[in-house]
Amino acid sequence: MKQKVTLICTECLSRNYSTYKNTKTNPERLELNKYCKKCGKHTLHKETK
Ligand SMILES: [Zn+2]
Repeated sequence: MKQKVTLICTECLSRNYSTYKNTKTNPERLELNKYCKKCGKHTLHKETK
């Protein structure tokens, strides 16, 4: 089972990335350090729906 998730920047709340995750192996909310164009730096991105 794969679910499409959107990753948002926790600083400016931009929706910067969308990805798929396996909900069986990874049921937790994703938290990734990714580059945010708006912030101009790497920030923590969290999963949203
Ligand atoms: Zn940002």
